[in-house]
Amino acid sequence: MYETSYHRAASVADAASLIAKADDGKLLAGGQTLIPTMKQRLAAPSDLVDIGQIAELHGITESGGTLRIGAATRHADVAGSDLVRRLIPGLASLAGGIGDPHVRHMGTIGGSVANNDPAADYPSAVLALDATVHTDKRDIAAADFFMGMFETALEDGEIITAISFKIPEKSAYAKYPNPASRYAMAGVFVARHKDGSVRVAVTGASQGGVFRAEAMEAALAAKWSADAVAGIALEADDMLSDIHGSAEYRANLVTVMAKRAVAAA
Ligand SMILES: Cc1cc2nc3c(=O)[nH]c(=O)nc-3n(C[C@H](O)[C@H](O)[C@H](O)COP(=O)(O)OP(=O)(O)OC[C@H]3O[C@@H](n4cnc5c(N)ncnc54)[C@H](O)[C@@H]3O)c2cc1C
Repeated sequence: MYETSYHRAASVADAASLIAKADDGKLLAGGQTLIPTMKQRLAAPSDLVDIGQIAELHGITESGGTLRIGAATRHADVAGSDLVRRLIPGLASLAGGIGDPHVRHMGTIGGSVANNDPAADYPSAVLALDATVHTDKRDIAAADFFMGMFETALEDGEIITAISFKIPEKSAYAKYPNPASRYAMAGVFVARHKDGSVRVAVTGASQGGVFRAEAMEAALAAKWSADAVAGIALEADDMLSDIHGSAEYRANLVTVMAKRAVAAA
């Protein structure tokens, strides 16, 4: 057994002060990753600072061509938002396919992005929609945020406050879920932006976490059609290989998911 002190923060400033004072504190949002990790004794924080009830971390707003989602917004609220469905349907469908109803009603977008699980869905949308991750200290461009499996640019105690997504002309997400956990074995987010550029971001497949499939982006910029990516095969060398699927299987899944995403968009 070990002891953990629980604190419920009233504001972002309050959370920052509580986490700064803790010996080995952890922010707690939906608890869908952190609590199981603690139960398995893989983490034993001295303090848990709960940011899930902070009003300023909730909500979805549109302004100046971007959609801003508060970090403590639950997956179910993103999936069910009329604004998200209308402006970025690919993002709403991604959120609606995360885990199961329990996970979607507890888990938050900020927790998912901060955790950067290599099989998580949101990191692909962050990269494909050229998002900005806002924290209590700075704004971080998507391209600078993900640093490899479970690694991000966040410093100790830094709090994600919101994520702003560029609103694209078209977008869609297709994933092949692990039948047990629903995490992505391969997930592909495609976006055609208003300036004509295309972004294709892949999750679930690589040992390095989320990445952009640049050959697919170039092919889709030239011709927006599922056929354009059908012949593009990714190298299996860097792909994850585990009991759920080999590296070659995952590399093939990426092409299949990319075709499905483009067709859906
Ligand atoms: C059974 C099951 C199935 C799942 N299936 C999927 C799936 O299909 N796809 C998928 O993408 N995910 C899946 N998940 C993960 C789920 O999406 C979680 O919600 C997510 O990983 C973490 O979000 P959370 O709010 O629960 O974060 P927590 O568990 O509360 O925190 C996770 C980590 O992020 C940190 N953190 C939290 N919020 C912030 C913040 N605002 N700023 C900085 N750091 C922060 C915490 O300190 C902690 O280190 C699944 C989880 C479970 C239990």
